[in-house]
Order: sequence, then C-alpha cells, then structure tokens
Amino acid sequence: MPRPHHRLNLYAVPADPDHVPPDPKGSLAWEEMVHQGIICDSGVAGPQAHLLVPGGFGRLRIDAPGGRTVFANRIGGFSVSCVSCGVGLARQLSDTITRWRGGGAGRLECPKCGAATELPNVETRPEIALGSFALEVRDVQSLDLTEAGTEMVRGILCADFRLVLSRG
Ligand SMILES: [Zn+2]
Repeated sequence: MPRPHHRLNLYAVPADPDHVPPDPKGSLAWEEMVHQGIICDSGVAGPQAHLLVPGGFGRLRIDAPGGRTVFANRIGGFSVSCVSCGVGLARQLSDTITRWRGGGAGRLECPKCGAATELPNVETRPEIALGSFALEVRDVQSLDLTEAGTEMVRGILCADFRLVLSRG
C-alpha cells in the first residue's frame, strides 16, 4: 500500500532579518559542497548528500524574495501568545509583520498588559523565521543539519542562522 508522502523542507534564515549574503553560489562553502559531492552546481543533491543532512535531501535552493518576508510552514497559520500574560496575539502579530514588511521596526505589543517583544524574538507555534534571504534544503530525511553541514551553511550565508521547518 503506498504511503502518503510528506515533503519536509528546512529553511536556514540569517539571524539578522535584513542580512542578505553577497554571493551565496560563489562562496567558498558552496564550492566546497560541490567539491565534496554533497550537491551538483545546480543545487541538486549529490552522492554525499548525507554530509549535510543525516539521511540526505533532494535539493539546495536559494530563496531570495527581494525584501523582508516570513519563512514558515506554508500550511495553516500560527499561534502566538503574550510571554507575560498569556493572551493570544495572532492578530497583533499579523499587523506587526505587515508593518515590518513595509520597513517598520517590528515590535509586538500586548494590548492587555503592554509587554513588548521585538519581532525576530517572537516565539510562535509552529516556528517562523523572519528574514530577507533563506537557503532552502528541500526534501530532507531528518530535521537537522550535520555539524559539518551547519558550518557550511553558515559559510554560504556569512551569518549565524536559525532553521525552520516547512511542509509541502
Ligand atoms: Zn500580555
């Protein structure tokens, strides 16, 4: 009986949401991945794909949306609550993200108790990452990178990063 196939992708998003690496495909780290057989030039996984993700992956892809965006699970919304009083803040988060995408500061404020959190630090379920650039690892066989893979991705991004999961 065929099993339903759920594609899982990981986004590696620079911790600084305005950071865009200068030349990701021209970076030494990208070259090194090609050299090691982890990827082909196109980003399709090579025979050594497991050196980046345990169990391998399908393809490495650059996602440069050309502005601030939300990298997240594309199915369904997300929930968020005030860290101080626990009230739900989904609508406020949506408004704050809209302002942030337009160039605003991005500060989520609780209308009930006044507690405020800067956008990159807001914790949602499922997790989202705000940024202007992502390295997308498609069709991953596990939900984390290897230690060496983490270093390579940091090299391509020229930055520390966070990982978020997306389906589909
Ligand atoms: Zn509150």
